[in-house]
Amino acid sequence: MSRLSWGYAEHNGPVHWNQLFPIADGDQQSPIEIKTKEAKFDSSLRPLSITYDSSSAKIISNSGHSFSVDFDDTEDKSVLRGGPLTGRYRLRQFHLHWGSTDDHGSEHVVDGVRYAAELHVVHWNADKYPSFVEAAHAPDGLAVLGVFLQIGECNPQLQKITDILDSIKEKGKQTRFTNFDPLWLLPPSWDYWTYPGSLTVPPLLESVTWIILKQPISVSSQQLAAFRRLLCTPEGHAAAFLLSNHRPPQPLKGRQPWPGTSPHVSAERKQGQTGHRIPTDGPLSSGRGCPVPCAVSRSSRMSHPCDHGPRSRLGFALTASEQDTATCAEPRDAPTAACRDAAASRTLARAEHCPLS
Ligand SMILES: [Zn+2]
Repeated sequence: MSRLSWGYAEHNGPVHWNQLFPIADGDQQSPIEIKTKEAKFDSSLRPLSITYDSSSAKIISNSGHSFSVDFDDTEDKSVLRGGPLTGRYRLRQFHLHWGSTDDHGSEHVVDGVRYAAELHVVHWNADKYPSFVEAAHAPDGLAVLGVFLQIGECNPQLQKITDILDSIKEKGKQTRFTNFDPLWLLPPSWDYWTYPGSLTVPPLLESVTWIILKQPISVSSQQLAAFRRLLCTPEGHAAAFLLSNHRPPQPLKGRQPWPGTSPHVSAERKQGQTGHRIPTDGPLSSGRGCPVPCAVSRSSRMSHPCDHGPRSRLGFALTASEQDTATCAEPRDAPTAACRDAAASRTLARAEHCPLS
């Protein structure tokens, strides 16, 4: 295995990475399993402050290990601040990790629960370092926002990505992708856990302040299947599907995740709205630039008073009959609008039964 040929298959997967990247056995490796009862509360942790500019999205590409959407980071167009961070961390890219089946795929695990996928939004410390590469080698260089994906309704924002995957099917392919704000992918609640860790892919540098949002977003089984149709091989080679691309949890080695709180969530937007509070008061809220009450409304119901019973992740699972089995079966034939309209009509139907909406 060469430094460039690492992957997720049996012969080049995570258990082999330490042969070429000895830091794989280091003291601050990621991901980890978060045991919520052992996480320590820290009142000094602040709410997250996120300012993203959708026009800074540039391209979407297939690295052979995931897709990634890259952003213009030559100036402070899109930045993450607050939480456990000091200074501004500039948005660099986001990508996804998933599994071969819907019952696993996230990299971080919460009290034994593995989610279907995990979104990573990568930022670098532009206050302190002149470039992403230099920041990636510094202990306080990177901040990655992690978001869990849970099987449920078709997610219209993710559909904008799955609709374009066919054009970057092979490793090394890329195409233009702009007017996309990753804020649209975040859940309503920005409560988080944070701990010091590493990149979860080679070179596995221990330079990441992890900020893991507690509330998942939804993804349909059909949308996840679209990610698995990406190839980890370049054009002209025998095709192999990228069925799975997640590293298993690593030893904590004395680290402790810290639960953060975000009672005064700010969602500053460069264009138009500034400093408004993310609506969490019901399924019909459609703030943050989301064009319709979309898949995040399913997530917002987690903290909604109409949700009876314990607010557990498992209690949040959809029944088979509720799952979106028709509108997103084939991304090429199911434009975003169809996905969106279906989600909206279902949300409205639920809202009618909710006296507090
Ligand atoms: Zn990642």
